[in-house]
Amino acid sequence: MDVSLLLDDLNDKQREAVAAPLSNMLVLAGAGSGKTRVLVHRIAWLMEVENIAPFSILAVTFTNKAAREMRGRIESLMGRGLHNMWIGTFHGLAHRLLRSHHAEAGLPENFQILDSDDQYRLIRRILRAMNLDEKHWAPRPIQWYINGNKDEGLRPQHIETHGDHTQQKMRDIYAAYQEACDRSGLVDFAELLLRAHELWAKNPEVLAHYQKRFRAVLVDEFQDTNNIQYSWLRMLCTGANNNIMIVGDDDQSIYGWRGANVDNIHHFLKDFPAPATIRLEQNYRSTATILKAANAVIDNNSGRLGKELWTDGSDGELISVYAGFNELDEARFIVSQIKNWLQQGNALAESAILYRNNAQSRVLEEALLHESIAYRIYGGLRFFERQEIKDALGYLRMINHPHDDAAFERVVNTPSRGIGEKTLMQVREAARQHNCSLWQASHWLLNENALKGRAANALQSFTTLVSELEQQVQDYPLEEQADTTIKKSGLYAMYQAEKGEKAQARLENLEELVTACKQYVVPEEAEEMTALAAFLAHASLEAGETQAQTNQDAVQMMTIHTAKGLEFPLVFLAGVEEGMFPSQMTNDEPGRMEEERRLCYVGMTRAMKKLFITYAESRRVYGQDKYHTASRFIREIPAECVEEVRLKSTISRPVHNRFSRATSHEAFENSGFTLGQRVAHRKFGEGIVLNYEGSGDHARVQVNFDDFGSKWLVLAYAKLEQA
Ligand code: ATP
Ligand code: MG
Repeated sequence: MDVSLLLDDLNDKQREAVAAPLSNMLVLAGAGSGKTRVLVHRIAWLMEVENIAPFSILAVTFTNKAAREMRGRIESLMGRGLHNMWIGTFHGLAHRLLRSHHAEAGLPENFQILDSDDQYRLIRRILRAMNLDEKHWAPRPIQWYINGNKDEGLRPQHIETHGDHTQQKMRDIYAAYQEACDRSGLVDFAELLLRAHELWAKNPEVLAHYQKRFRAVLVDEFQDTNNIQYSWLRMLCTGANNNIMIVGDDDQSIYGWRGANVDNIHHFLKDFPAPATIRLEQNYRSTATILKAANAVIDNNSGRLGKELWTDGSDGELISVYAGFNELDEARFIVSQIKNWLQQGNALAESAILYRNNAQSRVLEEALLHESIAYRIYGGLRFFERQEIKDALGYLRMINHPHDDAAFERVVNTPSRGIGEKTLMQVREAARQHNCSLWQASHWLLNENALKGRAANALQSFTTLVSELEQQVQDYPLEEQADTTIKKSGLYAMYQAEKGEKAQARLENLEELVTACKQYVVPEEAEEMTALAAFLAHASLEAGETQAQTNQDAVQMMTIHTAKGLEFPLVFLAGVEEGMFPSQMTNDEPGRMEEERRLCYVGMTRAMKKLFITYAESRRVYGQDKYHTASRFIREIPAECVEEVRLKSTISRPVHNRFSRATSHEAFENSGFTLGQRVAHRKFGEGIVLNYEGSGDHARVQVNFDDFGSKWLVLAYAKLEQA
């Protein structure tokens, strides 16, 4: 191919990076400056010009989706497929490595991935087995503790407790948890990385093999690597044969709360031989206005590596800020703007709603549903993490590998087959005694006639079911394995019997799972696995990213964290108010405010043409109404970049000063009242209308009374008057 093609469409600095001689390199640059593009072109360049085989290239991306996109872009640039190139997330790559070397890594051949929800359940079981009260030993912090230590490369025996009782106990729980995982061949996410690290650290010949193999290593979004990932890369790339190119932006480091360490950029410059640094400063993504605003916000952080972005694009439209009266009003506003966008002939898929927390999506979804606007959620509503899907996957996991204790616990009595907690305790105890899986322990108990008649029958029915299923579906295509399992296990019938909308949705999801199985193609790198095993790994590794769903034109919804690296012509940043974003917890930990600001910078820089920033002056959080002011991040945007949007029907009467900026309200169905209106009640005195639901006789309004706080009242009985 004509290699100049690989340098077209690049600026001088980008070209310098793409065509540099083989060496260690850091590309440090702000959002939208073409870092990912450079990485893609560099990989093609290495193959074309440096004659490096795809086999010798390792590329790390932040999500599986990004990995697929990168592969696709390189393939279309080169006009051919990329066989044997390793491209994926740290977790995906570690999984692949451990599969190839399970014996050296001390894992059974068919080890299973334990996702975060399963991990949590397992920790709870460990606590019960250790007779520890969850009130004092909350499972969630223990989960963080375990994962945090693993991210630092620490096993229980490495942890210094300094004689502190709590610390010792935490360490014991970690050790017991790890023992349980090892017994069942279960590997949690942090363990994937730690094991892959240990694999190389303990097996120099394995490491040497990969050092020889991977001549070029490339890492996107490097600012969010954690210590174990960094150390893993360092082990790989210190040979004379290896070259590593990392691209990143210290201003976009947003996973510090999960152990990512932005200092790794500094470490890189010290730890790797003769690294060159290239800076890109031209932004190609956003309008000058959006860029100026984002630059101004991030400028409030200290200790930055420092870089200004510029663009030769036009100013574009002002950033619109909308103060919703409450979260419903905010959602309605966003939906109305999306409708405008559509009317202007644009596609829904070009628009994105980004928020701080997954919990914010529900109200937005309802507003979209109400207007029949298609949307798609990334992350959050994780398809593979839904209860019914996990139940079905639990059976499939048992079929794939019956010694999977987490799967055993999940489905042994789902649907209920009369296996009580007492029987289960016996099974767990037997497993502990014999140091075997729950599955083996069950067989042992049954063979020894150690259980009472009814309990034995119930347990027997489960083991028989799993064995029979395994026999029956062995040679089926994947989707029939899933279908048969869902039906024969009784799961389908169980949800069918439940009735109601929720149960209906669960049934549809189970059917969707069968479809997902049908569409699933075993990827090249998993060819040695059975389709079922490959699918189960895929379900764990991608749980947070994909959702089996049709590719219709739809609004893209996700958290700002999930939006990293992506871009959309139209972006809404929702819930940008103090207490939400920056979040409430921010003040408790040093450095958190700056991380929140970086998150805001990431959010703003996703927008190409038009950015809306919205917030709600009152918001229901965990069932309580909270009153918030606009986020400091909004105030940090230069005034000349922003316009404040008000709906045409602004409130004409003066309102309570707390809501003096409330701008929207729709006359709600026939009641004669409006949101934001001041009303009087016989008993509660004066207050302001915050919200409403239902209609006719069932209509209820929420009023925030000056002296009694917020109350929901049935409109027909409340006898409210205008104040
Ligand atoms: P982020 O920090 O958000 O990950 P990035 O630095 O990786 O951003 P890219 O996503 O690679 O940036 O590029 C941003 C946009 O600019 C993309 O649409 C890309 O195609 C475009 N782009 C990058 N470089 C150029 C260029 N030289 N000419 C035209 N468009 C470019
Ligand atoms: Mg990028």
